[in-house]
This record gives sequence, structure tokens and C-alpha cells, in this order.
Amino acid sequence: MKLVLDTHTHTIASGHAYSTVHDYVNAAKAKGIELFAMTDHGPAMPGGPNIFHIGNQRVIPREIDGIEILRGVEANIMDFEGNIDIDEMYIERLDLIIASLHDVCIEPGSEEENTKALVNAMNNKYIDIIGHSGNPKFPINIERVVKAAKEKNIIIEINNSSFNNPGRSGSKDNCIAIARLAKELGVKVVAGSDAHISFDVGKFDTVLEVFELINMPEDLIMNTSKEKLKKHLLEKGKSLEEKTITPIK
Ligand SMILES: [Zn+2]
Ligand SMILES: [Zn+2]
Repeated sequence: MKLVLDTHTHTIASGHAYSTVHDYVNAAKAKGIELFAMTDHGPAMPGGPNIFHIGNQRVIPREIDGIEILRGVEANIMDFEGNIDIDEMYIERLDLIIASLHDVCIEPGSEEENTKALVNAMNNKYIDIIGHSGNPKFPINIERVVKAAKEKNIIIEINNSSFNNPGRSGSKDNCIAIARLAKELGVKVVAGSDAHISFDVGKFDTVLEVFELINMPEDLIMNTSKEKLKKHLLEKGKSLEEKTITPIK
């Protein structure tokens, strides 16, 4: 199975990442990745970008050197009501929104509270992907989260960095359980590299192990064709076109 796109990358603007858009284009080209989404952290991340960085992505060409770029963000879920750190006027311009729990932005709660945070975030019509939900720091009721994703047509990310990231150690068993249930319920999944340097774009080795282990059907994996991902985003109401910009005050 060939995965041709990456929905989760961070540029230098995220504050603790080390590459530029140019670097990602070059790395994607070298690795046979046809499309990537630029998903820098939301502004609540310590050292994260100013909201104007997130809002101004219309200046990024849709395609550079044959590589397509989606304009996105990894929003921070800030409370158990599922509120995120980006206002509607900014996210409505973007192509792809990941929503994730990070312990520097929200103190991990009980299983009930963390589950509520993810399920409530999915009520936000702009959110496309729930990021790294296998993180054991934020225990969740997997069944409720995956069922909510099914109901809202939201993609569940299986995050390649989680298995090697000391901050999210112990993720693998949870990710396997999440992926298994996604398969059973027919929920769309996506492999995200969560690259913080361009060399890691399209790095999916550990996610592929999980997909192989559970025999994840290819039609549920959103990385296998650009058209499949874009069709999903269009169905969700994303225009993937230029947007009239609200002047930044
Ligand atoms: Zn994250
Ligand atoms: Zn990330």
C-alpha cells in the first residue's frame, strides 16, 4: 500500500520545529509525497505562531514544483467543552483542521472529561481530523470517540510520532485499539507523520505496522489518494479555493 500524502506537518513557525515550506516541498518531492498539509500549532501552544501566521496562508501557492499544499492548522483543544484556540474567522479560510489535546494547553482530565473534550470538539463543523487520540496521558473512552467520529464524518488520525515521542509513550496499544474499532465501524483514518522537520514528511513506518496488523481496509485510509482526501474535504464544505480575506485588524 502506498501512502501519497501527509496531513500533519509543522514548520519553523510552530516554535519547536525546524523546517520551512520550501524544505517540505523538496523533501516531499524526494520521497514521492504528492501533497502535504501545513498544520502548524494553534497560537495557544507555548512558542507557537501568531494567529496571523495561521490566517495568512492564502499566500502559499496551491502547488509548488508539482507538490500540492493544503492550508491547515493543528488547533489546541482548550477545555472539556471542546473549544479550540482559533476563531471562526480564521478557520473558515483553511482547508484542513486537526484538533488535538496537548498537556501544555489543557491539563489532562478524567477519562470522562477527556472523552467529552474530543466529542465536543467534533461538534465544531470546521474540524476534519482528531489528532493523536491514542496518547495515554489523555485516557479516553475509545468507543465513544470513534462512534462520534463516525456520526460526524470526522477522520481519526493514527500518528506516526506517537510511538517514538517520549511525551506520548505507551500510545501504540491505544492506537491499535482505535484503529481496530475504526475498521469495525467503517470510520475514516489517516496516517499523520506529525513531522517537526522536513525529513520526516511522509514517515509512516509505525502506522503502517498498525494498519497491517489489523488489516485496515484501504478505502478507509485517506492517505492513498489526493482525490480521496480532497473529495472528503469538499463534502465537508471546504472550498479548497481562494477565500476572500477578512481584513486583519
Ligand atoms: Zn499534536
Ligand atoms: Zn503536531
